[in-house]
Amino acid sequence: MSTRRGPRMVLLGKQGSGKGTQGERLAVQFGIQHLSTGQMFRDSATAGVTAGLEAKAFMDRGELVPDDLVIAVVHERFQNPIEVQPGFVLDGFPRTKQQAFELDRILEAHPIDIVIDLDVPTDIVVDRMRARGREDDTEESIRRRLELYDTETKPLVDFYRERSVLATVDGLGTEDEVNAALLKAVGSRFPNGSE
Ligand code: AMP
Repeated sequence: MSTRRGPRMVLLGKQGSGKGTQGERLAVQFGIQHLSTGQMFRDSATAGVTAGLEAKAFMDRGELVPDDLVIAVVHERFQNPIEVQPGFVLDGFPRTKQQAFELDRILEAHPIDIVIDLDVPTDIVVDRMRARGREDDTEESIRRRLELYDTETKPLVDFYRERSVLATVDGLGTEDEVNAALLKAVGSRFPNGSE
């Protein structure tokens, strides 16, 4: 009987650092789920679901969606063992200490293998966000999201470093280069991972 599974990982990093693109690639490479809370909200807003529309009001202003709402959505996804048992890459969650504590509770006996801080300088992520031109990428919301990253999300880097699960990966370079660096980081913490 095989107990082999893929890694359970979290991608931290500013918006525009490439978490979405790289998260998707890693999910395919390891055969695991890519769970992006931002994407979940965008999808449910498009579908006209109340929670999604509620979230959109915050997203459009560059504010964080309230913890209760985010945690409820993540909790629901983790209720489905078939989806998350093989492993997962969480992209954009947790973004606050409260969310990190809740994630511990949700995962219980199945702790995170690796938390990756995808590191890209602020001026570069600003250029990238301006260039991608997503609906919520106004100058004001870009500024606000960077501010919230510093006050709410950046402390999680230390939080996970203290737990010895943190790896910092340079997010500059081509998509392939960053992907290779990410695979190397995951490989060092999760050596039995699938190829
Ligand atoms: P992203 O797709 O990760 O760029 O997220 C887009 C937007 O969704 C963010 O600017 C937030 O408004 C919201 N969002 C996504 N994930 C979270 C989270 N974990 N906590 C709070 N807000 C979130």
